[in-house]
Amino acid sequence: MTPIRNADLHCHSVVSDGTLTPEELAVRAAANGVDLWSLTDHDEVGGQHRAAAAARASGMRYLTGTEISVTFAGETVHIVGLGFDPDDAAMSQGLYDTRNGRGRRAQEMSEGLAKVGIHGAYEGALKFVGNPELISRTHFARFLVEAGHCRDTNEVFRKFLTEGKPGFVPHRWASLKDAIHWINEAGGLAVIAHPGRYRFTANEEYALFLEFKAHGGRAIEVVTGSHTPAEYDEYAAKALEFGFAASRGSDFHSPDESHCDLGSLPALPGALEPVWDLLESRIQ
Ligand code: AMP
Ligand code: MN
Ligand code: MN
Ligand code: MN
Repeated sequence: MTPIRNADLHCHSVVSDGTLTPEELAVRAAANGVDLWSLTDHDEVGGQHRAAAAARASGMRYLTGTEISVTFAGETVHIVGLGFDPDDAAMSQGLYDTRNGRGRRAQEMSEGLAKVGIHGAYEGALKFVGNPELISRTHFARFLVEAGHCRDTNEVFRKFLTEGKPGFVPHRWASLKDAIHWINEAGGLAVIAHPGRYRFTANEEYALFLEFKAHGGRAIEVVTGSHTPAEYDEYAAKALEFGFAASRGSDFHSPDESHCDLGSLPALPGALEPVWDLLESRIQ
């Protein structure tokens, strides 16, 4: 197999909270020089067969992917799964259960926003939803921008959709243990997404890494669109310290919103074990 030069193992399509279809993402990734790609929609594998076929048509290799919402120490943590069987029944059921509370949560978010004078947010957000089972804060953010409440989605999150703000509703997602087990039992590998983005103390992060490892997690994202260059170095050192392989992914959502395009990140720091080296037999 020719060596992988530009892996992008994290992005979102209309099957979750991205704005492009799996096919459009594949064309964009290939045009940007990606040679190993994964579509990692939130809590969903519904786009996997389309993405694999589109990758093939664009001459890229492919790993199946998803990004599972998990609650750990009262915070939401994202666990990326790579290289699993997309038709695994237990994993599909687990993801279905994880998606299940989103509708009700969205109604409550809308009620919270109505209290500060923003009406019809639930219906407004629905206009941006590509998958009725996956209404996310991102869809609310797009509606609030369209309705003129904020200039961009970042401002919406800051003012309305993060903890303590009127549209924020606490939610209990999957457990860390269950998410890792679904991925591993389906033949895949679990990766902690963008570890630099959580508001953990050093002790809490340490606990996350140890528990993740104890349950069978194998890798962390080091080079991601959600990290600063200083965080590439910080999490490269932590990957070595904990014996984790390293992943790389843009977390691209939309040409209009994402500052980091598919395939545009720097390479992984040299000493790290790339996660795709552990997944050779799962690459399509
Ligand atoms: P949800 O799963 O519904 O809680 O939505 C989480 C999604 O919101 C993430 O996957 C991001 O796409 C987006 N998001 C979270 N925080 C921010 C932020 N501060 N600015 C912009 N988008 C964000
Ligand atoms: Mn997202
Ligand atoms: Mn994420
Ligand atoms: Mn993501």
